[in-house]
Amino acid sequence: MAPERLGVCDAHDHLFLRSPQLPGQELDSAQAAADELAAFHAAGGRSVVQWTPHGMGRQAGRLPELSGAAGVHVVAATGLHQAVHYGPESLERLRAEGLAGVFVRELTEGIGRCGVRAGLIKVAGGFHGLDAHARWTMAAAAEAHRATGAPIAVHLELGTAALDVLDLLCGEWDVPPHRVILGHLNRSPDLAVHRKAAETGAFLAFDGPSRAHHATDWRMPDAVRSLADAGFGDRLLLGGDTTTAGARSVRGGPGMPHLLRGVRSRLQLALGEGVGAELTERMLTVNAGRAFAVEW
Ligand SMILES: [Zn+2]
Repeated sequence: MAPERLGVCDAHDHLFLRSPQLPGQELDSAQAAADELAAFHAAGGRSVVQWTPHGMGRQAGRLPELSGAAGVHVVAATGLHQAVHYGPESLERLRAEGLAGVFVRELTEGIGRCGVRAGLIKVAGGFHGLDAHARWTMAAAAEAHRATGAPIAVHLELGTAALDVLDLLCGEWDVPPHRVILGHLNRSPDLAVHRKAAETGAFLAFDGPSRAHHATDWRMPDAVRSLADAGFGDRLLLGGDTTTAGARSVRGGPGMPHLLRGVRSRLQLALGEGVGAELTERMLTVNAGRAFAVEW
C-alpha cells in the first residue's frame, strides 16, 4: 500500500493482545475488535498500526476480514515484548530457532500459516535501562531490519531509556535513526530527552492515554509543542495504545476514537488554531506514512 493512502492513522494501537501481565483484560474478541474499528472509522480514522508482537495473541488471520469490513487499513507487527509477557519455554524455543529468522519470516512470508505479513518490528526497553533480554531482542530487530527495511517500533517502559535504545540500535548496530520509532514518550515528559532523541532523526510517538499513566497526559501537549517549536514536527506520531478490554471505546473507555476526538482537539488547543490543526493533521497522516513506509 502506498504511504499516502494511509489516511488518518493511529500509529500505535492494538486490536488483539494477550499477556500474563494483564489477566482478565485480554483483547481477544473479534467482535469487540470489529466494533472498535468501526468506531474509529466513524471518528475519521482510516489506518491502525498494531504493535502487538509475536506470541501475544495477535490473531493475524482475522485482520484482513476485520480491515475490509471496517474500511480501516491494519498493519500487523512481528517482534518481541519484555520477557515478563512470555513463558520461559517459548523464549527458549525462540532462542533455539533464531529470533531474527522468526522476525524476517513474519515480515516476508507471513505470521503462522495465515499468509498475513507483518509490517514492523516491535521490541521493548526496560525502566531506565536495557537488560539482556532487551539487548537480545533489539539485536534480532536490527538484523531483521537490515534484511527487510522494516521499521523498528520500541515500547519504552514508562517512556524511559530512549537514548539508551538509540545508542544501541543506531550506535552499535547501525540502524538508521529515521527507521526507529520511540513509543510512550508521553509517559516521561522530559523535554530535554525528547529533544535529544528528535535530533538523531528518530520518530517520536506520543501514544496513550492510559489510565495508569494519566498523571502525564496533561503534559503531552506541551511536550509536542516544544518539539514542534524546535522544528521537529515532521517526526512526531500520535497513537491510542488500547491494551485492555476495559479501555476500548465500545466498553466505555477512551479507545481508538479518543485519539481523534479528545487528543486531537486538546493538541490543537495547545498549539494554537491554524498551526495546531495543520501539525496534528500532519502527525496523523504524512508523518505516519513516512515512519512506516518500506520498500518491500
Ligand atoms: Zn502498545
